[in-house]
Amino acid sequence: MNSKCPLYINGQFIETAEKQNIINPSTGKVIAEASLASDKEVDLALASAREAFDRGPWPQFSLIERKNFIFRIAQGILDNAGMLAELEMQNTGKPIKETTFMDIPSCAKTFEFIANNFIDYLSQEEVNVSSDAKGKIIREPMGVVVLIVPWNYPLLMACWKMASALAAGNTVILKPSSLTPLSALELAKIIHAAGLPPGVVNVINGSGVKIGQALCEDKRADMISFTGSSEIGKQILTYASKNVKKMIMELGGKSASLIFNDVDLDVAVNSSLTSIFLNQGQMCTAMSRIFVQEAIYDSFLDSFVQKAKRIKLGLADNPETQMGPLISDAQRKKVIAYIDKAKAEGAKVICGGKIPENPELKNGYFFEPTVLVDVGVHSHIFKEEVFGPVVLIHKFSGSDEAASLANSVDFGLAACIWSQDLYLAQELAGNLNAGTVWINTYGAFYNELPYGGFKQSGFGKELGRQGFLEYSRVKSVIIDQSAENKPLVNYWYGF
Ligand code: NAP
Repeated sequence: MNSKCPLYINGQFIETAEKQNIINPSTGKVIAEASLASDKEVDLALASAREAFDRGPWPQFSLIERKNFIFRIAQGILDNAGMLAELEMQNTGKPIKETTFMDIPSCAKTFEFIANNFIDYLSQEEVNVSSDAKGKIIREPMGVVVLIVPWNYPLLMACWKMASALAAGNTVILKPSSLTPLSALELAKIIHAAGLPPGVVNVINGSGVKIGQALCEDKRADMISFTGSSEIGKQILTYASKNVKKMIMELGGKSASLIFNDVDLDVAVNSSLTSIFLNQGQMCTAMSRIFVQEAIYDSFLDSFVQKAKRIKLGLADNPETQMGPLISDAQRKKVIAYIDKAKAEGAKVICGGKIPENPELKNGYFFEPTVLVDVGVHSHIFKEEVFGPVVLIHKFSGSDEAASLANSVDFGLAACIWSQDLYLAQELAGNLNAGTVWINTYGAFYNELPYGGFKQSGFGKELGRQGFLEYSRVKSVIIDQSAENKPLVNYWYGF
């Protein structure tokens, strides 16, 4: 058991008296004991990040100096990739293949890409505004940024935020989910080894309910970048409104995949399975509503269900495992409650819907891939995020109906369109209320492209140039270059 899971504040590793058991969701066993922050450590972290921003060298470093630090972080992640993949697998229950080939390499790439491609957007711009005045548009860091991330992609979500925030010259306080703090606490060690000045990065583990409000309300923080549920997002908005902070809100989803008659059925079925069952369905962009056009509905459903039944559930450390456990018993109970409610509202479970019987999995929080049909469009499961391996499959006739079904929920995070008619697909993409639309693919994230939701899926962007610039603010400076008196300025009061 790893008992050295300290907090990281002002360049120091701090063990606190209060500890928390960290559980491996595959086995239900305790794998580590992590220090928990109290209001005292929240206060220390805020003081340290504030001091490092106001008086430390980080915001003053040249862009090249900051770039070099950020490259060192990327290299540190790569050097520790095996250990991080193993830790993330143990703490989240994600299959080891996913953490090794998807999560950890993407973390390093994000730091590298942002330093390489966006940091120069911080350069100031000069604008001639009149014959004798010049304007300067200056981009400055926001200041102290609080980064709050969820448990479904613990390290990746932290790196998306931290890479942009640091590159833009901010100091940060990272709060991982208290269910999955291990990789973030390791990241602190990598950052320490990369030699960043004390206080630039602080990592505090603690329950959101206990320390979230103090962290978000405090005047020493200038910005909150939050990824998590819409419910908690709404609470954080109220905390941050007390002193009008800048916010990024990356919230939940109930995304729709629209599958037209002219698709290659195998490709559409295989990708649709990934789009809902990857990471046990615990993805904000999970395509939890699949709409299939009438002529192929029966064959799509048949093939989808046959293949869903063949997905290999297993312990996360087994390289053959295709689906691991849910994050916790509480999450599994929430999923079961949603299915029970859906059944009571008339839905039929045609695949899964239960805990697997395999004795090897009995101590973990496993749940079978589940397919529902006959789901009413006004039922809870049609509109609310389950965040588990549960999908509803529904029929549509034409593209207007497909768009209206997709748009009929309060979320607006992502959507998929499957059709060989690229003209129709692109026109439809324009009518979908979703921040990301994939056409004939799913789940491809590019550091070049901004990502973020509409409606109750939040606001603000991660990644892309737009995502990077979220972590800066714009100042206009006007310089008068003429020696002459200015009638407006000098004679307004008639002096
Ligand atoms: P969550 O319950 O909203 O928690 C997210 C983070 O907020 C955790 O670090 C949590 O800490 C913290 N938190 C909880 N209560 C808080 C409070 N009162 N004040 C401040 N912080 C608080 O979400 P989750 O269950 O971890 O993650 C699943 C959700 O995240 C889903 O809704 C999913 O769609 C969403 N998500 C969205 C995106 C996106 O990019 N749009 C990406 C990934 C996930 P504790 O865990 O310690 O309580």
